[in-house]
Amino acid sequence: MIEKVCRDCGTVAEPVTITKGSLGTEILLWLCLLLPGMFYTAWRHGSRYDGCPKCSSANLVPLDSPIGRELSKNHLPASVQTARAPRAGAVAFGRSLGRLFAKK
Ligand SMILES: [Zn+2]
Repeated sequence: MIEKVCRDCGTVAEPVTITKGSLGTEILLWLCLLLPGMFYTAWRHGSRYDGCPKCSSANLVPLDSPIGRELSKNHLPASVQTARAPRAGAVAFGRSLGRLFAKK
């Protein structure tokens, strides 16, 4: 994937797929009642978008766009900015896990 600049925090990185809601709630709803679980799953998957790995903002612009060039200019060198991020899947899983335990 192509790296983009976040308009909210200036991060230069490959967008990650961000899914709203939590996996914990999803599993819970599925376990309790089948129908709400189905609706919840549909809502979560429908709300997916490519966002900033740092602040989850959807305000990402391509690096080669005028705004992207302007934004990335302030965050040089780019190679330092884009320190290896963990795999998107791992991040999403960790986030879901965190939410699961954060809730009482
Ligand atoms: Zn950001």
